[in-house]
Formats: sequence, structure tokens, C-alpha cells
Amino acid sequence: MTSTSARITAVDTYDIRFPTSRELDGSDAMNPDPDYSAAYVVLRTDAADGHEGHGFTFTIGRGNDVQVAAIGALRPHLVGRSVEELCGDPGSVNRDLIGDSQLRWLGPEKGVMHMAIGAVVNAVWDLAAKRAGQPLWRLLAHADPEWLVSQVDFRYIADALTPEDALHLLREGRTGLAEREADLLERGYPGYTTSPGWLGYSDEKLTLLAKQAVADGFTQIKLKVGADLADDVRRMRTARAAVGDSIRIAIDANQRWNVGEAVEWTNALAEFDPYWIEEPTSPDDILGHAAIRRGVAPVKVATGEHVQNRIVFKQLLQVGALDVLQIDAARVGGVNENLAILLLAAKFGVPVCPHAGGVGLCELVQHLSMFDYLALSGTTENRVIEFVDHLHEHFTAPVVMRDGHYTAPLTPGFSATMHPASLAEYRYPDGTFWAADLAGREQEA
Ligand SMILES: [Mg+2]
Repeated sequence: MTSTSARITAVDTYDIRFPTSRELDGSDAMNPDPDYSAAYVVLRTDAADGHEGHGFTFTIGRGNDVQVAAIGALRPHLVGRSVEELCGDPGSVNRDLIGDSQLRWLGPEKGVMHMAIGAVVNAVWDLAAKRAGQPLWRLLAHADPEWLVSQVDFRYIADALTPEDALHLLREGRTGLAEREADLLERGYPGYTTSPGWLGYSDEKLTLLAKQAVADGFTQIKLKVGADLADDVRRMRTARAAVGDSIRIAIDANQRWNVGEAVEWTNALAEFDPYWIEEPTSPDDILGHAAIRRGVAPVKVATGEHVQNRIVFKQLLQVGALDVLQIDAARVGGVNENLAILLLAAKFGVPVCPHAGGVGLCELVQHLSMFDYLALSGTTENRVIEFVDHLHEHFTAPVVMRDGHYTAPLTPGFSATMHPASLAEYRYPDGTFWAADLAGREQEA
């Protein structure tokens, strides 16, 4: 069969869960015991090149089966489609999936169904980049600006960003691309680490990991806060003593507070010079974020990992609620919607510092930041990608950190592919790890 007639032949889904809650890795004020999980999807084709499109949604355990079912509900939109048409215009599948009039009732453009669309759209981009023989960041950075604009859905955001605005930003963003690409390949993209700051860690472990982060070349770390103010004061003092004054310390409340509480709590930690307060309150509370921002300045306000779509981001930017915009590669409707959000951020001049960690989020989102640097914002100033050193070993092209920077990945695709052995071990509930674990628990009971 020739590649021009190749079709999508199957949309395979996997419920993959890792038992991270047993080490308190990833513990914060709202999520005390996450089992980092992936609702994982593989687009298979009958193309002679054998390439597959891989994508996933990140969840933290229970409900991953619901997420997998949502991805499965999209199967009829994909099976039988031309691979060449799909990869030549991922925006077409983005529009079709969002436009399914019955599934749309479950959102629109928010929650489990939208995250499922994100997983599938990202898998299409993975397939497109593999077929092009390029890492996704490079495919995007060298794409024709007019084609990139055609990949963005301007519905509901055109009052803040028009296609003409986007085209202008992308054309301007091209100036100096070659120099920046050389710089990116040499230095990588700056990262910061959350590994020292999980709420469940002891002060000794916090100190040790904070010093290690500085030794590893990071210039910013992050601490989880929001469970107990006296504990947070002590942990901030401990962290500041460990890293000194020149290292930025961001704090993250994971939506714990009401608006007034967020202002009081953040100001109570101000003596330790926190760089930003992340997710101080509900991700839906646009005006609340604006009030918090006025109340805690000069501490910056950051949010985005739970912001459900480009329309909420638009409003956060319109009312001046954000100093730092945190995209997530697997929360919104995939690369196409993240292009819209990166363009909105560029239009409003707000730096993007992506959320990452979990399972595979570092692997994915690095591509978007590298595109942003090369062909849109043109700078890494005050921009960092979150880094957490967990679970990378399950990916065939894991992120490579060097001197606190993400090394630009050169493997074609979106870095989303997990090892088959990891899928076989951690598939829930019948992978080898979980089958043995659940059998052991049954015996104890
Ligand atoms: Mg966070």
C-alpha cells in the first residue's frame, strides 16, 4: 500500500497507572496521594513506514478509566481517515472532534472530553512529526506562518486575537530564528525544579534536595504551600536558607484558598521573597486572580495547569490577572489550542512558564516552549519550564537535563512514546505490576 492511500486503522487505548502515592512524590495541599497515570492512546496506520501516533492525558489515578473511555468515544472520527490528510492538517481533526455536536454537550471544550480531544490531537501531531522526520518543536518553528494560523481556532477569542494579529506575530517571530536555534541546540531551554518542595517531604529532605537543585544548575525551585501556615513559614525559611538569596523560589497552593485567604497567606510568606504564587484559588475564578494579583504585588501570580481552554486564558489576560501563564500540554485540546494560547500570551506580552511533571508532561511541553522561543516570543527571559525528575525512564525519548536546562530533543515526534514494557507492566488492573499487587492485597484481606 502506498503512503498516499494510508489510513488510520486503529485507535488503541491504555489505562496506565504508576504507584507514586507510596512515596508521597507529587503530594500537595489538594492532592495528598496521587498515583500518576496516563490515559494513553496509539493511532495505528497501514502506512509502509510503520509510524504510530502516540498521545496521552495525564491524570492522578482514580478516573483514569473514565478518561480512557472518553478517548475511546472519539474513535469513529479517526478510523479510516487518510493519514496524509490528517497529518497535513491536524486542525481539521481538532475542529471535527470539538464540533461533534453530541459529545460537545459534555463540555463544551472543558473537562474529560476536552482532555480526550487533547490526547488524540497530540497523537496526530506526534504522527505528523515522525512522518516529517522532525522533532515537533522544529516542525512548528519552521512551519509556514500562514499554515500555522490555519491551525488555530479563533472562535471565541477573535475579540482579543485576530488571524491577522497571529500572522503578524508569527512573521515577526521568525526574525533571528537561525541564531536562536543554534543557541537552543547548544544551551537548551531553562528549567526549574519542583522536586524539593512536595508537601509530604521532611525539612531534611527539602534542604538536601534544594541544595542538590542548585548544584544541578537550576536557578529556580518551587515549594508546595497551603496546608498549614506555620509549616509553610518554617519550610520557606528552610528553603531560603538552603539556596541563598539569588535563587528564585516559587510557591504553589494548588487552588487551596479563597481570594482573601490567598492574599493574606502569600503576604505572610513575603519576607522570604517568593517569586510567584501559583494556583492561589480556583482556576475558573478570573476576577479572583485579578484581585489576588493586586493584593500580593510584587509577588507574581501564575496559573494555567487547570485552565480548561483558550477562552478562559483570554479573559485572564484581558483583565490583567496573570504575571506568568502556565500552559499544560495535555489539559486543553492539544497542540492547536496551545498555539492559540501561546499567541494570546505573546499578544499580551505575558511570559509562558509551562506546567510539567506528572507522567510525560515534561517530554511533551518542552516542544511548545522551544517553538515559542524560536518562532514566537523570541526570548527565554523570565521563562522556565517546570521539571520534575519522575517516571522519565518509561519513555523511549526521555527529556535530557543539562545544567538546569532542557536539552532540545532530536528524536522525530512529540516525545510521547512509552516503552511497550512499561505499558505491559503498569496497565491497570491487569498489567504485571497491578495484577500482582491486587492479588497480594486480596490475600491480606
Ligand atoms: Mg502547580
